[in-house]
Amino acid sequence: MGSGGAVGRHTTTAERTQRLKAQAFGLGFDLVGITTLGEPATRTAFDTWLDAGLHGDMAYLAGDGAALRRDSRRPHAGATHAIVLATQYGGREPSGPVARYARGDDYHELLRERTRALHHWLEAELCRPVNARPYVDSGPVLERDLAQRAGLGWFGKNTMLINPKAGSFFFLSSLLLELGADVALDVDDPFEADRCGSCTRCLDACPTQAFTGPRVLDATQCISYLTIELRGAIPESLREKIGGLLYGCDICQDVCPWNVSFTTSLREEAFRPREMFLDAGSREGTRALAREILMMDAAAYAAAFKGSAIKRAKLWMLKRNACVVLGNVGTHQDLTVLEVMLRHEHEVVREHASWAVARITRLAQQ
Ligand code: SF4
Ligand code: SF4
Repeated sequence: MGSGGAVGRHTTTAERTQRLKAQAFGLGFDLVGITTLGEPATRTAFDTWLDAGLHGDMAYLAGDGAALRRDSRRPHAGATHAIVLATQYGGREPSGPVARYARGDDYHELLRERTRALHHWLEAELCRPVNARPYVDSGPVLERDLAQRAGLGWFGKNTMLINPKAGSFFFLSSLLLELGADVALDVDDPFEADRCGSCTRCLDACPTQAFTGPRVLDATQCISYLTIELRGAIPESLREKIGGLLYGCDICQDVCPWNVSFTTSLREEAFRPREMFLDAGSREGTRALAREILMMDAAAYAAAFKGSAIKRAKLWMLKRNACVVLGNVGTHQDLTVLEVMLRHEHEVVREHASWAVARITRLAQQ
């Protein structure tokens, strides 16, 4: 335990650190850890992954973005430490066509505000400005690395950060900040253990075999990437494997024993599913949701997904995904709306609708 300078009412480093963590919990964060900045432990693995092109179309991860990600001191000038924060978004709710994290309000702004609130609290506590910047899954920061370094968990074979008491259904955010000689915080030990052991459930359960090995994800094969990030046609060889998944995929987290045992129910009001997703867990519900998306115009899309993370996918991408879903779980009753999509202005939607019509028709004849 060290001692800080005579700044603020509580002057020892341990007291200050405890108060900071208590404040973080009070703000609604579920886990908090503190670490120094530097080169991430997975830097070599990250470079190898990029060199192999396993990031697909996510160009923002390569180039200048990669240079910043190779050292967590780079994204924010002067930063020396990170306060790493995790916010759970449930996990006990049934799986469905939309990944759990995307069923409620967009987490970015909410968590950025909370992370900013922690920053302001620290400034008030120290009675001086603190050079800091919040990051919520948006800047060039390898947040899972920071979280492992801050003791919040280990990298599962499914590449997610897993906490031994909370599983992996949580958002990560971080405050990169400059701590000077006059003020310190106790740094947490990194989480060094690998608690996956001989388990391979996540690798075995992936419908597209997107893992080339433990902790190596070929994003170009991953349903999350295909339905959210990919700005083009979904490879035909992967469409059937997508099944009824419309936006994202939770499968390699659902099967993880750490989630089976330790995931909690959803507590955060903002992350409660929007009404249109409430009945979407069944096959009928999935079909109804896919049809609803196919019938949306721009105004309906804007209204339905105002403040939702789903808007990361443009409407034509959601329609592309909905065609794939109906091609997999639809019936002849879905042909009418799919046939309307054969005249859609976007070529990719037209082609996916054509694929879906052909598949439903073929399956009906068998
Ligand atoms: S998110 Fe789904 S598709 Fe992607 S690796 Fe996990 S199980 Fe496979
Ligand atoms: S399913 Fe098993 S191997 Fe995969 S992350 Fe969880 S514990 Fe690790």
